[in-house]
Amino acid sequence: MLPTLFSPAHLDACFAADYAGAHARFRHACDRHEHSGYREFVYRQTGPDKEKLVTATAWLGNKNASRVLVLQSATHGVEGFCGSAIQVDCLDYFIESKLPDDLAILFIHALNPHGFAWLRRVNEDGIDLNRNFVDFNQPLPVNEGYRTLAKDILPESESEFAAASERLKLKQQEMGRVAYEKAMSGGQYEFADGLFYGGQSASQSRLYLEEIFHAYQLHKRKKIAVLDFHTGLGPFGYGEAICDHPPGSAGVKWAKRVYGDSVTEPALGSSSSVPKLGLVDYFWQESLGDRVCFITLEFGTYAIENLFEVLRHDHLLHRQALKWNDRKTQKVKQAISNHFYPATVDWQEMVLCRGRQVIQQAINGLQESS
Ligand SMILES: [Zn+2]
Repeated sequence: MLPTLFSPAHLDACFAADYAGAHARFRHACDRHEHSGYREFVYRQTGPDKEKLVTATAWLGNKNASRVLVLQSATHGVEGFCGSAIQVDCLDYFIESKLPDDLAILFIHALNPHGFAWLRRVNEDGIDLNRNFVDFNQPLPVNEGYRTLAKDILPESESEFAAASERLKLKQQEMGRVAYEKAMSGGQYEFADGLFYGGQSASQSRLYLEEIFHAYQLHKRKKIAVLDFHTGLGPFGYGEAICDHPPGSAGVKWAKRVYGDSVTEPALGSSSSVPKLGLVDYFWQESLGDRVCFITLEFGTYAIENLFEVLRHDHLLHRQALKWNDRKTQKVKQAISNHFYPATVDWQEMVLCRGRQVIQQAINGLQESS
């Protein structure tokens, strides 16, 4: 048998089987660096095994660096297996001595630890963090499309699921693929138990992100590149560099210069993602303007129809009091974690290879003189 690209031991050191394992791997990788400045931002809630939930941060390199690469994982909890593995691999591969003097890496591990631990995209309040970055002092956006689909997305009971799915298929044909995906996944602020719900106020993770931003004085830095790791959309194993900066903006130009022609733009229809409301991206853009380039690195797994289906089952499950060890719960959780984390060697290797490539590109781009 041919050897694999990475040793089984290295894959195991990077990829965990659950949130607690991912956190332990990250912590261990940080501990091997003398000055990682490892910190924890603790949540009130715990995981299914009563484990502590934290967003952890670490800083690699010069504390006063004017150029910073931010690596962020688990904005969508269950997608965290991928991002956490890239972070751990990066701590191992891009050792401190390899970083240029004026450049540092900030790791934000498990921005949504609750979703990671409980195998959900959403957080402890059912909020999709990546729809939560809207101005809650303004009237909230209305998603008419979601409203028309809501009853079939989450029918009264599981027994109606198959018939509701058939009706959704017909609606998709009527609306067209893009309009349907925008309605479904673009973000909604009306159905608190629904999918892609942006919430009614800033989530705990959003508040922590703002705290982290100020604690590390990111507003004072000259150039910041952010890579936010996601999974579940696009071709299996491929890491799509998605740019949600406004078309033609300095952010898009930076992205294309640094990450090349594979960069896609939802606003122009060139991405596997449709345009969305309330992205965490908008917080960085608003805070830093032309000094930031934010990329969502989205690793594909399976078809989007499967994504919607596993999420619908998960949200139906969480409508009732959750019994973690029930067979039904475990079946739904197995399906959702398979969709967002296939956990096969080929997929894991594609993730680490592409992760290293894009991190290297980001580092090179940060060193440009302008
Ligand atoms: Zn995601």
